[in-house]
Amino acid sequence: MSDCVFCKIAKGEIPSDKVYEDDKIIAFKDLNPMAPVHILFIPKEHIANASEITAENSSVIAHIFETIPKIAKEQGLDSGYRVITNCGEEAGQTVFHLHFHLIGGRCLSTQMA
Ligand code: 5GP
Ligand code: ZN
Repeated sequence: MSDCVFCKIAKGEIPSDKVYEDDKIIAFKDLNPMAPVHILFIPKEHIANASEITAENSSVIAHIFETIPKIAKEQGLDSGYRVITNCGEEAGQTVFHLHFHLIGGRCLSTQMA
């Protein structure tokens, strides 16, 4: 996806404040943080959103969820954190490359939305 901003971040074509990277995924700080810790986890492979997760590509999702607790610990989120993915326009998805928001560092509302 040549015009996808997160593909460009994954390839290093656009700078980002990286907190983790390996051959499959990258995690970087959100440009407009909603909380003291706000990190986005993305697969390097272009997947538009959660609706495009399949048996063929889902191992990278497991890998993201294995990595999130390690980064949360590194970031000092010992009291808890939230992981969110917005799927589709009505859910508020603005970047159509699958990403998981890791949010923490303050008391989060009990409301889900
Ligand atoms: P969505 O609304 O699609 O769930 O979340 C997209 C997120 O990506 C937003 O929180 C927005 O601040 C963040 N974002 C959009 N463009 C960039 C960018 O170029 N760099 C970084 N670091 N974050 C971005
Ligand atoms: Zn992409």
